[in-house]
Amino acid sequence: MPEPENIFFAPCSREQKEGTYRHFQDTVLDGVDPSAYPEIPEFDDDEIAVWGVVSGNQSAWEQMEAGDILLFYTKRKSYTHAATVLETQENDTLAQKLWTPYDEGRRVEDITEGWPYIIYLTNVRRVDIHSEAFHDDIGWSTFYPQSFTRVIEDREERLVSKYGSLTEALRQHTRNDLGEAPEAITEETEELLIETEREPPELTESETAYTETQRRVRSSAFREAVLEAYDESCGVCGAQRYSPAGNPEVEAAHIYPKSEGGSDDVRNGLALCKFHHWAFDNGWISITDEHEILVREELGEETYDELSDFDGTTLSLPEKSDHHPHQIFLCEHRRLHGFEDGNLEEPIDAS
Ligand SMILES: [Zn+2]
Repeated sequence: MPEPENIFFAPCSREQKEGTYRHFQDTVLDGVDPSAYPEIPEFDDDEIAVWGVVSGNQSAWEQMEAGDILLFYTKRKSYTHAATVLETQENDTLAQKLWTPYDEGRRVEDITEGWPYIIYLTNVRRVDIHSEAFHDDIGWSTFYPQSFTRVIEDREERLVSKYGSLTEALRQHTRNDLGEAPEAITEETEELLIETEREPPELTESETAYTETQRRVRSSAFREAVLEAYDESCGVCGAQRYSPAGNPEVEAAHIYPKSEGGSDDVRNGLALCKFHHWAFDNGWISITDEHEILVREELGEETYDELSDFDGTTLSLPEKSDHHPHQIFLCEHRRLHGFEDGNLEEPIDAS
């Protein structure tokens, strides 16, 4: 795929532009069968994604060339899809067939006129580009695109000189599920996993040791590293669940909590399902130095099978012993929640 010359934006927020979003689903995500529309030029693909622009935005549309990128703003503060331009064509007949400004006989608020300026697209793909950060980079102060528009030329040049290419600029702006750019986190994750082989663990780390950005990257990397070490499964119950989008349910818990300055060290981490994370942070459970699960039973009635069933069992541990929870953190967790001498103190509420 050649390097795009320009980046364009299409507003179709699911919340704000319901009718527009429906058209986006119909003709971009689902695509159009070209054989059903004689107006569509011949392309290699059996299915083609089609978008359109109202006459007010014609001048931006006229600058569009094959290979350019169109970003779709479908969610608050996020461009969720990108597509590559194949060709443009003014075609009112096709526009009327594909998208009448009416929906089931009723006028849709956000679609009041036709979209005769057609864009044929290919390679529609999911992205997650934080609009605010990207707009900031191109000198816009809004977090949403006000209309179909493009990045102006000198801003594009700045992106190219900053990132090397427009493709790389987009890649760097694509977030993972924590809202961070990918490279920095991947590197830091590797670093955190290797660190355990050469550095002794330290209970806390200084707030001032890192800049705000470094700290955010480190915190995301901590989560990634812990989830990787535990194969995205809960250390207590072994559950390995995913959202429909494929994101793991398990969370990276700090053994000695972040609120106490606990280190972002893999050895201070535990992958836990939401319930066991809550139970661990609130002192229903703790862990011995030998990685046995302790359940707070002394409080009597208020105990749960989902906890007591695991009493005395061993934590599911990472393959590498370097990544196992370290005593210095485990001991502090037990102390914090009064497990240490079997003489429970008043429970503290971590929530
Ligand atoms: Zn669990």
